[in-house]
Amino acid sequence: MNKKQQEILNIIQEEYDYVKALLSGYEYDSNLVELYFDNSDSRYNKINNIIIISFPVDYDYNDFQNNRDKWDPWKIELVHEMIHEFQNTVRPEVSEEGIKLYNINQISPSIPRIGANGFSGNGHDETFYTAVDIFSSVLNTTGDDILKNPLKRI
Ligand SMILES: [Zn+2]
Repeated sequence: MNKKQQEILNIIQEEYDYVKALLSGYEYDSNLVELYFDNSDSRYNKINNIIIISFPVDYDYNDFQNNRDKWDPWKIELVHEMIHEFQNTVRPEVSEEGIKLYNINQISPSIPRIGANGFSGNGHDETFYTAVDIFSSVLNTTGDDILKNPLKRI
């Protein structure tokens, strides 16, 4: 990993720690975030409990931004994968809001509703959406902001 990649990783790790601190009421296991520059999809590795944030191989480091008041693409992906981590390690009890968000956005955990902010890939069940609701409340934002992921990462 070169110096610029390390700087990006440090910023992402700081954001991870920041969001995690907001959820200190929920104790959950976590490992460090890993960064790949390999054109793969950002993802949560359930078996190893690792979040992987991925960038293109030819990523221009000057394009990297860290805005406090804006959801930069990497931040949307980080929070999405943290929600999967939370879903799998905390396993919160499904809430009414979680069921509501699930029904609005998904047909099944891997099939999104057309025109909704749903996701393909496994694990987008009622527990996932319950975690979305918990995250939106600690991040002082709306479920919509968190769910608006144009890249439909898994
Ligand atoms: Zn997902």
